[in-house]
Amino acid sequence: MPPTYTGQLGPEPRDPDQAFWDPEMQTMPRERLEALQLERLRALVDRALSTPVPLVAAKLAAAGVTAGADLSSLDDLASIPTTVKQDLRDSEAADPPWGTYRFVGPSGCVRMGQSTGTTGTPTVALLTRRDIWVEYESAARTWWRNGWRPGQIVTHAHPAYLYGGGVMLSGSLEYFGALNLWVAPPDTDELAEQALRMWHRVRPDVSMVAFSLGRFQEVAAKLGLDGTGLPGFELRGADERGLPFMTAGFECYAYAGGPCGVDPGGHVHEDFAIVQAVDPRTGREVPDGTWGNLVVTTLDRDNALVRYDLEEAVLVLREPCGCGETSIRAFWGGRFKDFLDVQGRYFNLSEVERALRKVPAVTTPSLEYVVVKPVDPDAPLRVRVELADGDAAATADACRAAIADKLGVLAEVEVVERASLARSGYKAVRLVDG
Ligand SMILES: [Zn+2]
Repeated sequence: MPPTYTGQLGPEPRDPDQAFWDPEMQTMPRERLEALQLERLRALVDRALSTPVPLVAAKLAAAGVTAGADLSSLDDLASIPTTVKQDLRDSEAADPPWGTYRFVGPSGCVRMGQSTGTTGTPTVALLTRRDIWVEYESAARTWWRNGWRPGQIVTHAHPAYLYGGGVMLSGSLEYFGALNLWVAPPDTDELAEQALRMWHRVRPDVSMVAFSLGRFQEVAAKLGLDGTGLPGFELRGADERGLPFMTAGFECYAYAGGPCGVDPGGHVHEDFAIVQAVDPRTGREVPDGTWGNLVVTTLDRDNALVRYDLEEAVLVLREPCGCGETSIRAFWGGRFKDFLDVQGRYFNLSEVERALRKVPAVTTPSLEYVVVKPVDPDAPLRVRVELADGDAAATADACRAAIADKLGVLAEVEVVERASLARSGYKAVRLVDG
């Protein structure tokens, strides 16, 4: 249960040597965990119908579900049609500003935020204090798994204001008991320098600036500083299948899972969500170990989403993990919008980046590249990459060879001067038109 007022924000301290942040939930026997999910799912269905929440009620009606009790097992979820981001956008446009999918409206909420809008008009998320508590508890499990502990200094450069990610991350770190060293995203060299100077004064124990690291390295080199002042960051839980599943987005469930570092993948916080890899043609789950659409139903929170299809790739593993957590694990395979269909190969944009990282000439002080959106699938993949100094023709050849080797496609690589591609303080735009 969430803590009540105890004279402090956040949870009671726990033994730093214990294996899990929340041992009860994280090691619950599968049978009990699945029974808890069904109980919470039924409560969610009843609440969608009694509130009512028209967008969700319509999906339930399409499945012939008239009460939570109609769901006899978790398998029955497959009958409920999925909801995609465009449904939320359409709902907000038809019934502005909130749409018809909120369980709790603005007067019951304390925080709003929107996504970065990299995939079209952003939708607005509304969170109650309970929703924030669910996120903070979930984040704490992940920080604990990483081996982080209260008392450490954690730094990050997440954007703020209307984008909800920065305040969510900052709040979760404070709740956990870390010292939150929040610097601005390095949108300009001046902002990057401000952060770098602080890290040379106050050394963080943990760095979460992965999305902006290249920018910081670039500006540190310009200033002649001895590195960024940041500790190294090792992403655990990834293997040849992909990245560990960690998030279902700010609009759905920001801290939906995290890797334990024992066996690969990310543990799913199943008491707070049902995460499925779904075949969009049938609505049913694909076999374990194969890719499907990431479909999430959030549980035990106020503003829930039911069968929300994030249009991203996910792969679920159900075999037990060596760490002792009983939850399923999952891999994240990227957003479908970032997949490229070229010369009969289908791959994620991030795989182009992994290929280019094999070419040392283009990775110092940071790798800066863009891929031109393919128009003709048979044409060479067009890539532009910056080179600080060295031979342009030989570097282009090396990049072409690395892409051919990793992806099996023919590329046309244009080597451009340093600082000629656009910079971004957070997630850089790597897929461009023309
Ligand atoms: Zn594990």
